[in-house]
Amino acid sequence: MHQSTLKDSFFIEGVGVHRGKNCSVTVRPADEDTGIVFFRSDRENEGFKNEKIIASYNKVENATMCTQIFNENGASLKTIEHIMAALYGMKISNAIIEVRGEEIPILEGSALKFVEKIREVGIQKQLKPRKILKVLKKVKVTDGDKFEEIEPFDDFEINAKCDFEAKGLKTDSVIFNFSKNNFASEIAPARTFGFISEVEYIKKHNLALGASLKNTVVYNDKGIPLNDEGLRFENESAKHKVLDIIGDLALSQYWIQGRVNCFCPSHKLNNILLRMLFASTENYEIL
Ligand SMILES: [Zn+2]
Repeated sequence: MHQSTLKDSFFIEGVGVHRGKNCSVTVRPADEDTGIVFFRSDRENEGFKNEKIIASYNKVENATMCTQIFNENGASLKTIEHIMAALYGMKISNAIIEVRGEEIPILEGSALKFVEKIREVGIQKQLKPRKILKVLKKVKVTDGDKFEEIEPFDDFEINAKCDFEAKGLKTDSVIFNFSKNNFASEIAPARTFGFISEVEYIKKHNLALGASLKNTVVYNDKGIPLNDEGLRFENESAKHKVLDIIGDLALSQYWIQGRVNCFCPSHKLNNILLRMLFASTENYEIL
């Protein structure tokens, strides 16, 4: 596999789901070996210049409701996971993302708009090969009865099972394989979701200030979506979990050769899994 970037830049703006403020991104082509690098270009009035924030798992300091990365000056960016998934899923290894605001726009809650923009501007193949992280040993992390593990496999595959029965939804599962399945049509359109039973807590704690039925699938206590559009896939919520896993594992900065098996994945577990994987060089090799 070769490295690749965009043929041209694209711009997207919209509301941020957590702070509820307007924000925008300009995604630009980048040289080989750049990786994915964010710049926050809106903090001059706070005494900062153009703050560089590297899209790496060890820059994640908060992964409670979204994935948030920080740099050494304390500049941070929230909700990077969907744009990261779009770039990774479309096999873009190098890009510079200029952000105005403290998070990435939520758009309609999935990675679809980012994928459409990537297709519009086109993908530029580069000369150097892409570095591959080959999993050599199974690594498993748990949180109560939730778990995630990554094991040796000759492709990149995610096998996710989600139990929402307590919320009135049936248990859902997805197997996504990067060679056999299509990221753009099968995973990218899956939207973020929530439950009506959580709305009061979210309001009380000033969370998800930008969330609405335009960017979040909200289920009632019988597991029925309240959005006019209904669901895009029968197992849309499990597919969105796979989207989040792809976006979070993209912070490894490598193309992954391994299989992820998980039960009730979360941003927190996705990040801990990468930290555990990188904790010992016996777990992986870089090709
Ligand atoms: Zn998400």
